[in-house]
Amino acid sequence: PHVPSTKYLGVHKLMRTAGVYWRSNEKNPQLQRIYGTAWATKEDLANHLNLLEEAEKRDHRKLGVELDLFSFPDEIGSGLAVFHPKGGVIRKVMEDYSRKRHEESGYEFVYTPHITKSALFETSGHLEWYADGMFPPMQLDAEFNADGTVRKPAQNYYLKPMNCPFHNLIYKSTSKSYRDLPLRFFEFGSVYRYEKSGVIHGLTRVRGMTQDDAHIYTTLENMAEELDNLLKFVLNLLKDYGLDDFYLELSTKNPEKSVGTDAEWVQATETLRKAAEAQNIPLGMDEGGAAFYGPKISVQAKDALGRTWQMSTIQLDFQLPQKFELEFKDKDGSVKRPVMIHRALFGSIERFFGVLLEHYAGAFPPWLAPVQVVCIPIADTHIDYLKEIESKLKAKGVRVEIDSSDDRMQKKIRTAQTQKVPFMLIAGDQDVSANAVSFRFRDGTQENSVSVDDAIKRIVEAIDKRIQV
Ligand code: ZN
Repeated sequence: PHVPSTKYLGVHKLMRTAGVYWRSNEKNPQLQRIYGTAWATKEDLANHLNLLEEAEKRDHRKLGVELDLFSFPDEIGSGLAVFHPKGGVIRKVMEDYSRKRHEESGYEFVYTPHITKSALFETSGHLEWYADGMFPPMQLDAEFNADGTVRKPAQNYYLKPMNCPFHNLIYKSTSKSYRDLPLRFFEFGSVYRYEKSGVIHGLTRVRGMTQDDAHIYTTLENMAEELDNLLKFVLNLLKDYGLDDFYLELSTKNPEKSVGTDAEWVQATETLRKAAEAQNIPLGMDEGGAAFYGPKISVQAKDALGRTWQMSTIQLDFQLPQKFELEFKDKDGSVKRPVMIHRALFGSIERFFGVLLEHYAGAFPPWLAPVQVVCIPIADTHIDYLKEIESKLKAKGVRVEIDSSDDRMQKKIRTAQTQKVPFMLIAGDQDVSANAVSFRFRDGTQENSVSVDDAIKRIVEAIDKRIQV
């Protein structure tokens, strides 16, 4: 809102200034624009400033460099990340755990290529609706006569922006009966989207990403049960990664733009609503916000700073089963269309990685931390003792390093703390003779004379139980 004079601003703070031309015309004299923030109470202002400061400290682009996790080399191009070994470990653990949980929950793993001939995206409608978001085509396979005239015209190949059409072809590769359903296809599918350079932002808005993408094909009768299970699965898995403050949002039909009959929309939307309400977490409405091909539920998660991120989406689709003529034979012998559910749980691994990095401010819980334990000798004579402990930990699958650099002990502790390593095991003469260590934690607390076996047991337990420390 505008106020008649600055005396109405109340509690405020000036944030920054910028040069600006009168009426944005460079021929006019330059003015100063002053940016500030105004709040109802001093406390509100202090909270807001604190949040900004915390958010800046946690900026995943900054932490990515400080912790040597990933980068965006100019040579590769904007919005295309490479993961360094430490970021690679975190990513691999994230993926491995997700794979295991999907396996346990009846998903089957599929793999599809990164590029395809245009026909696939013509069938799916992507080239009609989504061409702006795609990388331009590669023209290949043209054949020419000796006189240079075209014998066979070139084919357009596209980098895929989505995995769904590929999964539909897998569905169609054999005939299906109601007994085959539900079918749950899962893929870590790499997709490419041509985001405008202005909107690219760290790992959260990129041009190349890997979705943890699943497509579920079910009968209409089983849709409700499938959605309820799916929502439970999604929320539980997000909790395991440390997010536990959620609300759901239901996006309903856009009256201007939709395919499918009214009856289908009503049934699908009500089924989604019931599944959402059964989860006992707040449900908000996004009236008219659905894509033209079906209603969806999105999971919104709050991070440690109380910021909301859209995580998973669960999308019902009336269009693709029709376009790809997906069918199954029902109990009575009649041929029907399956219901198709699109579901990405992390959204993309890159984005989820960025969100978790900010949520934890880089201090990942032990099960995700790239280095879980650093062993620190008080003097070089204690290195051999720590090597024994190191090999015991390695035998239990723990990611452990010994800091045998020339730095002094205090410096080594600081280094491990800056790298946000969850556990430090420090050993000196007394420890060697007592078969013990000093057990130091990320928050600076330390327990002395802990027996080696006990320390190992506690470390392994914290990792296995995915304890948040
Ligand atoms: Zn999809």
